[in-house]
Amino acid sequence: MILTKLKILFYIKNARNNLTLYSLLILFGSLNAIVSFPNLEPIDASHLEINTTKLSVEIYVIYGSGGNVILSIGDDGVILVDDQYAPVTERIKSVIANLTDKPIKFVINTHLHPDHTGGNEKLGEGGAIIISHDNVRKRLNSDQFFEFINQTIPALSEKGLPIITFSENMTLYQNNEEIKITYLGSGHTDGDSTVFFTNNNIIHVGDDFSDRSYPFMDLSSGGAVDGLISSLQKILLMINKETKVVGGHSGISNQTKVKAYLDMLVDIRNNINEMIQKGKSLAEIIQTKPTSKYDAIYYDHSFIKPNDLVKNIYMSLNER
Ligand SMILES: [Zn+2]
Repeated sequence: MILTKLKILFYIKNARNNLTLYSLLILFGSLNAIVSFPNLEPIDASHLEINTTKLSVEIYVIYGSGGNVILSIGDDGVILVDDQYAPVTERIKSVIANLTDKPIKFVINTHLHPDHTGGNEKLGEGGAIIISHDNVRKRLNSDQFFEFINQTIPALSEKGLPIITFSENMTLYQNNEEIKITYLGSGHTDGDSTVFFTNNNIIHVGDDFSDRSYPFMDLSSGGAVDGLISSLQKILLMINKETKVVGGHSGISNQTKVKAYLDMLVDIRNNINEMIQKGKSLAEIIQTKPTSKYDAIYYDHSFIKPNDLVKNIYMSLNER
């Protein structure tokens, strides 16, 4: 991936009447944001470019700031998968208004992270029904400490919380679609779900997969490397060669790339595990550069640096 413009912008999140300032890295142009988490510094959210890619007659992907959004438009209304950050919501709404006059009926959260749920409060206030796994609602309903960025993010207000939750799977029959929502278990977090528009053969896999950056297991939110491996295996059982795979911070991808991602993660995980069994320290393991043969593919301005991945896997394996 070639980065055209990269700029630090500013983002203000208003939660529980407290202003909390977050900084983000936001990519301009047709490329989607590659960061999967905010760095928490003072920021400004002007000049953001929102782009859409049409995947089928009814389905679009919206790129802006934060996790990629799937937009489904049909007779029943508008359905969104994830909703980026709060300051982007009005921009996303105007993109939708240019495509349809139907209301936003459902918002499905793939997981709890604020770059995927930041629009919940405004969309919930506007009447959208928010859907998520049980664990996502639980975590959004209380202050969350994210170890990786060493920061606590406040709970969402009532309007931003999912009002329909599920423990395993659920299906929505809307817009002439069978929309299958499937809980993957603990991988990136403990609330990861895929959203599969089966008639169009398009799936949103949240942050469990990217074609351009290393994975991140958010251990403080219940993530785990072995869980992520099993989640990728589950995704591969759902999709076929024709499936369009949308990751939270990925291009429009496919089965082959998901398989390659799984193989990469299994290889690095097994390599690190073997060294742990031999009594090697984290510093010694990092010195062997366990990711080196994959860095050209996945270390392309990635939020997760190779050493971060090694440390993340090491910590996850030591939590077993
Ligand atoms: Zn995430």
